[in-house]
Amino acid sequence: MIPNKKVEFLIIGQGLAGSLLGWRLIQQGHSVLIIDPCLKQTASRTAAGLINPVTGKRLVKTASVEYYLSAAKELYDNLALFFGQPFFYEKEQIRLFQSEDEITQWNKRKNQADYAPFLGERFNAKDNNYLREDSLGGFKQMQCGYLDTVALLDHLRGFFLDQACFINTQIDLDELRIDSEFIEWHGHTAKKVIFCDGYHLQHNQWFSWLPLQPVQGEILTLKTNSSMPNEIIQFGKWLLPLSDGKFKLGASWQWQPLDEKPNDKASAELLRACGKHFPQLKQAELLEKNVGIRPGTRDKQPFIGCHPSEPKLLVFNGFGSKGSLMIPWYSDCFFRYLTRGDKLPESADINRYKNDYPTR
Ligand SMILES: Cc1cc2nc3c(=O)[nH]c(=O)nc-3n(C[C@H](O)[C@H](O)[C@H](O)COP(=O)(O)OP(=O)(O)OC[C@H]3O[C@@H](n4cnc5c(N)ncnc54)[C@H](O)[C@@H]3O)c2cc1C
Repeated sequence: MIPNKKVEFLIIGQGLAGSLLGWRLIQQGHSVLIIDPCLKQTASRTAAGLINPVTGKRLVKTASVEYYLSAAKELYDNLALFFGQPFFYEKEQIRLFQSEDEITQWNKRKNQADYAPFLGERFNAKDNNYLREDSLGGFKQMQCGYLDTVALLDHLRGFFLDQACFINTQIDLDELRIDSEFIEWHGHTAKKVIFCDGYHLQHNQWFSWLPLQPVQGEILTLKTNSSMPNEIIQFGKWLLPLSDGKFKLGASWQWQPLDEKPNDKASAELLRACGKHFPQLKQAELLEKNVGIRPGTRDKQPFIGCHPSEPKLLVFNGFGSKGSLMIPWYSDCFFRYLTRGDKLPESADINRYKNDYPTR
C-alpha cells in the first residue's frame, strides 16, 4: 500500500507508452502515479520489439523514420546507462524476395537517395548457405534491431516501485471522480489523467469515439539444434534469432476475435511459412505461444492529446505495430506539450477527429 498521493499526472497503463512517458516525466522532476494490473500478456510484453524502417510489399520507408530512430536510440541508450544493461539490440536484417514484383520495387527504391541509409546490397540464393536453391534471394536492410520489451518494462516497473509511484491494479474507470481542480481515485489525486491503456481504449467511456482498429497477433518461441542465421529475417513473416538455439517467429494478424487466446490456425500458418523457407527448422521445439492486441488506428497515426470537453483527461495511445520505434519520439513531443504547452504534431493530435466526437 502506498499512502494517498497528490500528483501532477496519473498514468493508466504501464505498457511501453505509459512507461516511457512516466520515465521522462519523473526524470524531469514531475510527480507521477502509474497504475497497471501487471498482466503477463499485453501488446508490449508480447511484441518482438522489432525496429524496421522499410516495410510492406512496396518497401515503403516509414514517414519521419529518421526522427523516430534518433529519439529511440538516444532514449534506449540512456535507459541502458541508467540500469547498467542494454535493452535495444542493433541487428542485421535480411529480407527475402517473395515475388518478381518485389525485385522490381527494390530496383526502384535502390535508386532513391532517401532510401540509401536503409537498403543494402542484393544477394542470390547461392550466396547464402541456408537458403533454398529456388529462393529468389533478397537484400540487406540497415538500421534494424529489436527491443527486449519485457526486460525494459520489468526494470522500469522496479524503478517506479522504488519511487513509490506504482500501484498493481486495474482501475475501474467509473471510480475516477472529476472535480473542478483535480481528479480523485481511491484517495489519490492528480491534476491530469493520461490514458496509456492500449487496445482497452475501445471501452474507455471518454475516448471510445476515436477510431481504434485493434489487431490481435501471435508470436511463437522455438528452439532448434540446427544452425541458425544470425540476422533477423523477413519473409512475409519474420524470424528473430536469440541465444542458445532459441528464436521467435511471428507474427499473425487477426482482426476477429480479439480474445487474447492462441489460435491453432495462426500458429500453423507461421510454422508452415517458416518451414517453407527453412526446412531445417521444421523439427524445432515449440516452447511458447504469446498473444497480444496491437492498438492500431484507422489512419495508422497515434492518438495523442486532450479530451475535447474535459481537459484534465488525456490520451497517449494508438502506436499500432510500431511502438518500439515511435513511442520514444512521441513521448518527447507529448512531454513538451504537457509541461511547456508546445504544439503536438498535427498528424498525431486527436484534434484531427474532433468532428467524430459525439456532442451531448
Ligand atoms: C503480436 C504483436 C507483435 C508486435 N510486434 C511489434 C514489433 O515487432 N515492433 C514494435 O515496435 N511493435 C510491435 N508490436 C506493437 C507494440 O506492442 C505496441 O505498439 C506497443 O506495445 C503499444 O504499447 P502500449 O503501452 O500503448 O499498449 P499495451 O502494451 O497494451 O499497454 C497497455 C497497458 O495498459 C494496461 N491497462 C489497460 N486498461 C487499464 C486499466 N483500466 N487500469 C490499469 N491498467 C490498464 C494494460 O494492462 C497494459 O499493461 C506488436 C504487438 C503485437 C500484439
